[in-house]
Formats: sequence, C-alpha cells, structure tokens
Amino acid sequence: MKRVLKGSGIVVLGIVALCVGLNLNSLDDGIQYLQDMFAYVPVSAQPLDPKGRFGFCEQFATLRNAQRAQFIVNFLEARGIAFQRLPIYDTKFDNIFAPFARRGNESESHQAASFTFVQDMVWRTIQAFVPYTIFSAHYDKVYDDPDYQGASDNSAAVCMLLVAAEELNRARPPRPVAILFTGQEEVGLVGARAFYDYATENNLQVADVLNFDNIGRAGLAARASGERSGYVFTIPLWGEFVYDGRKFSPASAYRQPDARLMQQLQRVGPIKLYDRMVAQSDGTYWQERGWNAVNLTSDNIYYLDETWHTYGDRVELLEQDNFQRALELVLGYARQEQ
Ligand SMILES: [Zn+2]
Repeated sequence: MKRVLKGSGIVVLGIVALCVGLNLNSLDDGIQYLQDMFAYVPVSAQPLDPKGRFGFCEQFATLRNAQRAQFIVNFLEARGIAFQRLPIYDTKFDNIFAPFARRGNESESHQAASFTFVQDMVWRTIQAFVPYTIFSAHYDKVYDDPDYQGASDNSAAVCMLLVAAEELNRARPPRPVAILFTGQEEVGLVGARAFYDYATENNLQVADVLNFDNIGRAGLAARASGERSGYVFTIPLWGEFVYDGRKFSPASAYRQPDARLMQQLQRVGPIKLYDRMVAQSDGTYWQERGWNAVNLTSDNIYYLDETWHTYGDRVELLEQDNFQRALELVLGYARQEQ
C-alpha cells in the first residue's frame, strides 16, 4: 500500500513538474495577473484633469462612431495639421492618416489642413522611398451607443495620439512618422485591412507600427498577437489553450513582437512584455502581413478584463499618468535615431 502511495505521489509530482516546466513562459504573466487582481480598486488613483491636456477625452468618450471621426478631423483642422481621409471600402467610415516629416524651409504658417494637390504629390514621392514609423489607434467603439464609452477601448489611445499629433506638428521629428486613426476595428480589423491595401497600392513604405489599443491605466505592455485573445498555457500531451476570462479554447497561432523593436522601445521607457497574454487588434493584421507591428496596451490585464467590452469601461477609471507615459513613448520613439 505504502509503495503504491509512494508511486502515485511520484507520478503526481512528475505531472506537476511537467505542467510547470511546459508553462515557464506563461508563469510570469499569470503571476502578474493575480497580483493585479488582488490590488485592483475600481476607482482611479489619478483621474483625468478636466482642464488638463487630455481633459477633452471625457467628451470624446461619449461620442458615437461617426462623431468620433468628425471630432478627430475637427481637432486636426483646428491646428492646421495636414491629413488624408482614406475610405474604408464601401463602409461610410474613413481611416484618418496624418504624416509628419521635417518641413525644411517651408513656411510654418500654412493653413491648409486637408492635402492640396502639390502636397499630395510631394508625399507620394517621399513615401515611395522613406519608410514610415506609424502610431495607430482605432477610433470606433464596439457598441455605437452614447452610454457605452469604451474609455480604455479605445478612447484613451485616440485622445493620447491627438495630443501627440499636436506635438509632432509643432516640432517635426528627424524622420518620417505618421499618426493613423482607423475605423471598423471592432467589426474584424477592417480599417487595418483597408490601410494595408492603401499602403500596398500607393507604395507607402512602413518601417514599423506601434498600435495602441486598451490603454488608460497603470503602465504599458507589449503583447503577443494572435487571432484569439487571452491567456495562453499548455496542458501536457494536449497542447496550448487560451482563456479569455470567459471561456477556454484551443490557442490559435500567435506571434511575439520583434525583439529589436522591443529593445528600441524599452530604451525610451519601461514596457512589460506579455508573451502569453495574447491580444487581437489592428497590429495583429499588419503583423500577419509581414509589417513590423506591435500591439501596446495597459499593463494591468486584470483591469482590462474587468472593463473590456462592458458598460463599465468608463472615463472615471482612467489614470492620467498612463496617457502621459504613452505620449512620452510616442514622442521619444519618433525622435529616436534608428
Ligand atoms: Zn480595441
């Protein structure tokens, strides 16, 4: 009897060791998740200052999808920032693309916000030779309803990038960068696909893409990207599974961000890498197509799980220092020598 117990004890220990061994990569992500779960408080430690530079996000979050696109256009036009509206197929929505590059001796006082014919020709020539760094965020929200704010998904990132656009327009970075607001992300990354098609047809070269989705609280994280979002772990002899907080399913293929890109980002500011907390966003589509893209989110995955696609995703929960961190990452990376 004793020998049987001892024997089964060894088998159980072996299975536990095998589980741990196979899940070494998932362990740190899981531990971080549990820490965030126990530390979670459903109030913001540092709410947005209504009079601060991100204060307009309170209003932006209440807008419906068509109004959001209009808000972005108005914001850029009011500051004389040139942009292009790129139709998303036959939907009534556009991607909004604002490229920045050093202007040389060109007058700073130009007022034309939409592209003139000459500007358009100049940009077409530049983009055929010099690859862009693109900072992107989707502006649509999953429920097109004023009561659903989608504060972290994805109002926060749009507001942060609007402030970044203002800064990049004021002090041009040394290399071509662009800000891209996509629509129709929530209905299957359709805006991302339309922009990829546009870039391919117009010979627009892309160096890398930092795609912001689900920011607004705590620090920043880069996520593995795949078709199925959630926490990936291995069951011995059975394979990889993904848990999205609601159900378990077999994991789809997922990709890690490029190691060199991660190094360059971490030179600008701290970014956690969640290699087993897979995210699906616009960056996923571009990564699959071979672009050097990364999906960046808040590093508090528990908070994101609690609010994701729920009416509880509200601006009161956002923290201003996360906006500031993301903004500094964008500006720091745009000004970094490659
Ligand atoms: Zn999103």
